[in-house]
Amino acid sequence: MGQTSKNSRTSSATQKFYCRCGGEVKMKTLFENGKIKNVAECEKCKKLGRRPSDLK
Ligand SMILES: [Zn+2]
Repeated sequence: MGQTSKNSRTSSATQKFYCRCGGEVKMKTLFENGKIKNVAECEKCKKLGRRPSDLK
C-alpha cells in the first residue's frame, strides 16, 4: 500500500464557505419555537440554507 496523505491538511477550524453569488456564507443561530436552530446565510444575497453547502 502507498502513502495516503489526503486529509492531513484539512483539519482547520475556520472554514469559509462562499455562495454561488460570490458572497461569504456565515452561520447564524436562530431561535424558533424555543429551539436553537443553526442556519447558513449569505451576506450578499441573504439566501438561507440549512448548511453552508446548500448555498453553493
Ligand atoms: Zn449569495
